[in-house]
Amino acid sequence: SKMKTGLIWFNGHIVPQEEAKVSVLTHALHYGTSVFEGIRAYETPKGPAVFRLKEHVERFFHSAKVMMFELPFTPEQVSEGILSVVRENSYKSCYIRPLAWMGATSLGVNPLPNNPAEVMVAAWEWGTYLGDEAVRKGARLITSSWARFPANVMPGKAKVGGNYVNSALARIEAHQAGADEALLLDKEGFVAEGSGENLFFFKGSTLYVLEHSVNLMGITRDSVITIARDLGYEVRECRATRDQLYMADEVFMVGTAAEVTPVSSLDHRAIGSGQAGEHTMRLRKAYLEAVQGHNPKYGPWLTYVNP
Ligand code: PMP
Repeated sequence: SKMKTGLIWFNGHIVPQEEAKVSVLTHALHYGTSVFEGIRAYETPKGPAVFRLKEHVERFFHSAKVMMFELPFTPEQVSEGILSVVRENSYKSCYIRPLAWMGATSLGVNPLPNNPAEVMVAAWEWGTYLGDEAVRKGARLITSSWARFPANVMPGKAKVGGNYVNSALARIEAHQAGADEALLLDKEGFVAEGSGENLFFFKGSTLYVLEHSVNLMGITRDSVITIARDLGYEVRECRATRDQLYMADEVFMVGTAAEVTPVSSLDHRAIGSGQAGEHTMRLRKAYLEAVQGHNPKYGPWLTYVNP
């Protein structure tokens, strides 16, 4: 089915999707020279609100800095573009995709002659990323034969389009193998992250979060750490191996798209009881309450679309 995205903020103007077009000679199409964000807006008692807008826009500009893209808009203008896309499409809740890319001025591999970057923000209605069943019963993971790239190969802390070739290969492989999602290891064999999610695990009631090695500094990861500490969980950062995960009591993945999704098995080994874990589901509930504006403690994380 064709994705319905309605109105798009395209280089500063709201236009219908059909008018938001680029050339086939776009540098980004050839070499993956784009940077992007993934953000969600949720329905709250005070209307739709964007979750952690400031942090997402900040990461967007940091990703552009890594690539030396000049963005012809300020963070305030991009933030307003994001809010306007939700508003103009009258979405109650949606997934929001800001993208900046190198255009069609020059197709040499050096992208910089294409500066300044072009920028757009699209949004669409999007349910659970790993599927409703994964959320209820837990996702089935397999370790990918594709390693997460080392820090001196690709800028994994930036959300660069080209990085997602690695994620796409891992996700294709996982789906072909009948799993819901891929787990990627770093080149030393330690657990890095999912194709688009950070990873946590429980031993008893101690929550372990993977340290930042080659993984993306996820905003959901940061939110879940705060929420878990507020609920009284001890949270420890660690480096973990895949067999450590086999022995964990609970494993779960987090990301803007995936939210908090329990993991039921890894490489055909059941995690804990093989069902969605109890602590995980408690964190999932608290996370959803936070994003949907039901917990005033996390009010500062919300930007209302219609203030
Ligand atoms: N890792 C990767 C590779 C991702 O693409 C994402 C999704 N942006 C995440 C982790 C989770 O990040 P966030 O919580 O900021 O969405």
